[in-house]
Amino acid sequence: MDQESSMGAGHLQEEEAPAAMAKSTKRRGKQQRREGGGARKRRQQQEQQEYRLVSYEELPEYMKENEFILNHYRSEWPLLHAFLSVFSWHNETINIWTHLLGFFLFLGLTLWHLAQYFPQVAHLIGHLSWPISKVAENVSSNIGDVLSGAASFMQASPGLAMAAAAGAGPTTRWPFFVFLAGAMFCLMSSCACHLLSCHSHRLNLFLIRLDYTGIAVMIVVSFFPPIYYIFQCEPRWQLAYLSAISLAGAATVYALMSPRLSDAKYRAHRALLFVGMGLSGVVPAVHAAAVNWHEPRRNVTLAYEGAMAASYLVGTAFYLTRVPERWRPGMFDLCGQSHQIFHLLVIAGALAHYGAAIVFLRVRDEMGCPAN
Ligand SMILES: [Zn+2]
Repeated sequence: MDQESSMGAGHLQEEEAPAAMAKSTKRRGKQQRREGGGARKRRQQQEQQEYRLVSYEELPEYMKENEFILNHYRSEWPLLHAFLSVFSWHNETINIWTHLLGFFLFLGLTLWHLAQYFPQVAHLIGHLSWPISKVAENVSSNIGDVLSGAASFMQASPGLAMAAAAGAGPTTRWPFFVFLAGAMFCLMSSCACHLLSCHSHRLNLFLIRLDYTGIAVMIVVSFFPPIYYIFQCEPRWQLAYLSAISLAGAATVYALMSPRLSDAKYRAHRALLFVGMGLSGVVPAVHAAAVNWHEPRRNVTLAYEGAMAASYLVGTAFYLTRVPERWRPGMFDLCGQSHQIFHLLVIAGALAHYGAAIVFLRVRDEMGCPAN
C-alpha cells in the first residue's frame, strides 16, 4: 500500500471511527453476553459434573470404607450441597433417614414423658400447639389436650397412687431422661456423620469420631435406668456400676480418638470395644436377677433386655460381615445394605431398652425403698 492511499485510509478510519467503534462495542457486548451465557452454562455443567454421584474407584482414599458398595457416592461436596442431599437419593440416604426418624421418635417420647412428669411442659406444648390447631380448625386432635390428658393419667396411675399411699411418692426420673438424651445424641451424631462426612477429610475424621462417641454414650446411658432403679436401695452398687461403665465409656472414646482406629480395616476392633462395653452389663444383670429373683416382673424385663442384646449383637454382625452387599456387590448400593440393617436394629434395640426402663421405673415407683 502507497503512502497516499494509506493516508486516505487513515482519514477514512478517523471519520468512520465513532460509528465503527459503536458497532464494534455492540458486537463485543453481544459476544460477551453470548460468552457470559456460555460461561454460565459451562459453570453449571461443571458444577453438575462436580456434584454428580461417583463410583467407589473415584473416591479419595479416606472415603473408601466399603468396597462392596460400588456406586452413588457423594465425594468432596460443599457443605450446603451435602446438607441438602438429605432430600436426594444416594447411598447414604436410608442411613441418614433411619436415624433421623429414630431421633424424632425419641424426641417425641422425651417430650411425652416430660409432659407426664412436669405438667408445665404439657401446658407449654399445649400453648405451642394452639396456633397449629387454630390453623387446622377441622383437625379435632389437640396435642395439648392429649398431653394434658396424659399428665393427669400419669398422676392418677395406679402405681403412683400406691406409691403415694405408701408415702414413697414417684421416684426421680433423671436416669430415665439421661438415657433418652443419650439415645437422641447418638442418633443425631450418626445422622450428621452420614450426611456431612462426604465434605472433606477433616470433617470426615471429626464426624466419624463424633459418631463413635455417640455409640459409646448410648451404651453408657443405657446402663443408667436399670442400674439406678434396680439398685436404688443400695447406693454403693449404684455408684460402683455407674462409675465403672462411665469410666469404660470414657476410655473407649479416648481410644477411638486415635485416627488409626477410624480406619476401615479396624472395623472389627471398634466393634469389639463397643460389644465389650455392652456385654459388661451381664455382671450387674446377673447380680440384679439374683437380688430380684422373686420380683414378678423379672421375666418381662429380661425379655426386653434380651431383645435389646439380640438386636445389638445381630446388628453388629451385619456391620462386621457386610452382608448382603458382599454377596452381590453393587446390588444393595441404595437399599438393603448391611449398614441400613444395622441402623434399624440399633433403633429396635434402643426401643426394647426403653420398654425395660419403663418397667424398672414403674416397679420403683410402686415399691419405693424400704430404707427411705
Ligand atoms: Zn451408621
